[in-house]
Amino acid sequence: MASSNSHRNGGVGYTSSITSNGTKVITDRQQQQQLFSSLNSINPKSSTTSSSSLKPKSSLRRSSTGSIAGSATAKDESRGVRGRVRVAVRLRPRNAEEAVADADMPDCVELQPELKRLKLRRNNWDSDTFEFDEVLTEFASQKRVYEVVAKPVVEGVLDGYNGTVMAYGQTGTGKTYTLARLGEEDKSARGIMVRALEDILAEISPETDSVSISYLQLYMETIQDLLQPTNDRISIIEDPKTGDVSLPGATLVEIKDQKTFVDLLSLGEAHRFAANTKLNTESSRSHAILMVNVKRSIKGKDSALSVENGNASHAAKILKPPIVRRGKLVIVDLAGSERIDKSGSEGHTLEEAKSINLSLSALGKCINALAENSPHVPVRDSKLTRLLRDSFGGTARTSLIVTIGPSPQHRGETASTIMFGQRAMKVENMLKIKEEFDYKSLSRRLDIQLDKLIAENERQQKTFQDEIQRIASEAQKRIAEVESNCAGALEVNTCMCVEECIRYSKRRQNEKFLVSHLDVFCCWDHVLSNLNSHLIKICFLSTEINEFKKLLQNETLLRRAAEEEISGLRNEVAQWKRLEAAKSSEILKLHKLLEDESQEKAKLEEEIAALQSQLLQLSYEADETRRNLDKGEMAKLSGDLDSLLPQSNHQSSRDFADGASMAKLFEQVGLQKILSLLEADDADVRIHAVKVVANLAAEESNQERIVEAGGLTSLLMLLRSSDDETIQRVAAGAIANLAMSETNQELIVSQGGLELLSTTAANANDPQTLRMVAGAIANLCGNDKLQMKLRGEGGIKALLGMVRCRHPDVLAQVARGIANFAKCESRAFTQGTKMGRSLLIEDGALPWIVQNANNEASPIRRHIELALCHLAQHEVNAKDMITARALWELVRISRDCSRDDIRNLAHKTLTHSPAFQVELRRLRIDYG
Ligand code: ADP
Ligand code: MG
Repeated sequence: MASSNSHRNGGVGYTSSITSNGTKVITDRQQQQQLFSSLNSINPKSSTTSSSSLKPKSSLRRSSTGSIAGSATAKDESRGVRGRVRVAVRLRPRNAEEAVADADMPDCVELQPELKRLKLRRNNWDSDTFEFDEVLTEFASQKRVYEVVAKPVVEGVLDGYNGTVMAYGQTGTGKTYTLARLGEEDKSARGIMVRALEDILAEISPETDSVSISYLQLYMETIQDLLQPTNDRISIIEDPKTGDVSLPGATLVEIKDQKTFVDLLSLGEAHRFAANTKLNTESSRSHAILMVNVKRSIKGKDSALSVENGNASHAAKILKPPIVRRGKLVIVDLAGSERIDKSGSEGHTLEEAKSINLSLSALGKCINALAENSPHVPVRDSKLTRLLRDSFGGTARTSLIVTIGPSPQHRGETASTIMFGQRAMKVENMLKIKEEFDYKSLSRRLDIQLDKLIAENERQQKTFQDEIQRIASEAQKRIAEVESNCAGALEVNTCMCVEECIRYSKRRQNEKFLVSHLDVFCCWDHVLSNLNSHLIKICFLSTEINEFKKLLQNETLLRRAAEEEISGLRNEVAQWKRLEAAKSSEILKLHKLLEDESQEKAKLEEEIAALQSQLLQLSYEADETRRNLDKGEMAKLSGDLDSLLPQSNHQSSRDFADGASMAKLFEQVGLQKILSLLEADDADVRIHAVKVVANLAAEESNQERIVEAGGLTSLLMLLRSSDDETIQRVAAGAIANLAMSETNQELIVSQGGLELLSTTAANANDPQTLRMVAGAIANLCGNDKLQMKLRGEGGIKALLGMVRCRHPDVLAQVARGIANFAKCESRAFTQGTKMGRSLLIEDGALPWIVQNANNEASPIRRHIELALCHLAQHEVNAKDMITARALWELVRISRDCSRDDIRNLAHKTLTHSPAFQVELRRLRIDYG
């Protein structure tokens, strides 16, 4: 029966583990769907009443329950809402090549879209099961892929959230097919980029809103503008306050219609192709990034920033800035996830290969850190992770599509793609609306208002002046008229009176002169009354003039008030402008600061790169030196082993570089940094690092610092975890060097080093590795305190086991270990702390000791002779030694050994031991 391993993911909504019992899983799925439906029903955007200032359009139907992205409620808009990264997996159909090559084999995966599960075949009878937010089979249409993967993200962007859609997978699995197909011949084939822009353009209002795009390529940590390919040194700017990331150097094109967008996209593709041809790279190694900025104006009362005050004064209303929402959609077509061959088979140097992988591996590390809730997320390690800082663990709504192929031949890559998707499902974002006051537009509005007021005021002034002039000239005219009328009338009347008088006096001259005098007076009365009425008229006119004057004064007052109001408004505008200027200068300052910092960082990065290359160079030199030494000085070094000193620096003269350059490296790079490289991902770096550490450990003056910095622990870990023969050899050599001091010997044993060395001794075949391991154990054998442990933890057995390798260097180290051990035992006997038979004899060392006591290699022979003498000094061992025919060897040593001290020791032993004396007599050997 097929067994099935289930993997749980930590995502929202998956409340039950998957068991082999299908019913339970289906019940949970139904619950989950209910949860999704309820989430969507409280989404304010799922109804048609849009909160923006636009009239709602019906063309973009809001996504329904089937979508994989969560949604935020209106209440949460200002303070953010949790939103997990949603992950869909898409299987590409078999292509023609696979149809032939894999004809007899089943696909490496089996999809269960209705259960949202994917089974990855381990072999014919076993598979692993994984759950995703959506499982898209090879039959899934581009439309469905857009609707479940990208549409909810696009809707979020229209509502003022940032959004990310990203495709991850091996080259050739359909990332570009999914994201970037233009579908010009076949509309149904349109990819996510084209469909997203269609939805955005259909939803926005051209009078108040705007959409602009940038299209970029990231290759070897360099960002190139795909809309302006000569622009290939674009830098990333981060707002220190908000953390928003922008690329001020990138071309930003405003999009008014779909055709412009499609044209730009195909232009970008052409530039990408040309750039990659020029750099001799494949597009599968670069990341393509489309950024769509959507800016929408909204009415204050619908906004998260609005103040709930209906009675705000008119002035406050005028001065209240409009509100804009800026959603940014980022669509990322990642480089192929397959590992680039480190040997540089694509024609890259090692450095290039590292740089090509940098962004993708940094992304993987960030996602791991976020998935594990690690306190440090290495966002700043690469440009890609800096660009996507809002997408993972930020405020954006993020949807990831992982693409896989069916071929069993790529099972490994497919498995790692699936695991990437599974980890990404654990990443939580905190969705936040991007809304702000539009001060610029307020300033523009006030400017227009001010212009209007000034024009109105000027118009009023002009009318007023005209009116005054008209009134004044009319008054003048009327005064002149009245004056001329009066003068005329006076003249006429006077003439008439004079004539009348003359006529009258003539007529009455003679007879009624006296009487007629009275009549003349009457006549004068009449003239005077006439004159009076004219004077009244004149008075009336002058009051009218006075009234006009008053009117004029009033108008002047009004004008002054209007002028004061204008100057008040002018002041306000000036204040706004000052405020704006202060802000822009602050922004400029911050930009400058950022630039300085990024320059500083670039400098530091260069320094690090230089130091790393120095490190590589030094370890290369170390290799060279070792090779030379191996070739030329082998014989000399073997000779050196003759020395009986147990703590000679054999390893330091082999394997590694000269001390001067090491000391230089030590100072320049720093011990901590070198030790950290022992855990590097790159095996080459690890090898170089362990060689450098071994070199340093060969100097006695460095040993204490290495151990204090945790170097011993790292070396033991490396020996435990690595299968690499070089690493094992060099690490064992370094441990052997550190094992020269008594304190370190105890540390090694307390950290399980003895067991580790024994395991390595049993498994290794390389004579040089065995020599290092035997050397390390031999050093431990010289420590009085470790005797019992060495025996108990199999150290002696391990030492003896290594004689299977007949290399004289290995045998010499084994012999030295045995001699050290025997010497310690002998001391313990003398001090009375040991009573019983030698542990060496108990562990069966005696036959090998006797067999090699006269070995032709002098280092082996000397050590064994010494060991025999130590063993023979104690009567408890005598019987075993006689049985093993060690007596003959002792006799030989006491006669032939070229070293006086050993010869004398053997002689003394033979003459003092009663058991030996008895045996010698029995054999009739005359020994006195
Ligand atoms: P990637 O970008 O991951 O390297 P591509 O998108 O270039 O992969 O796809 C590789 C090939 O597979 C292309 O020829 C593409 O047309 C085809 N292909 C990918 N996905 C599908 C699919 N879902 N249906 C049909 N053909 C596909
Ligand atoms: Mg591609």
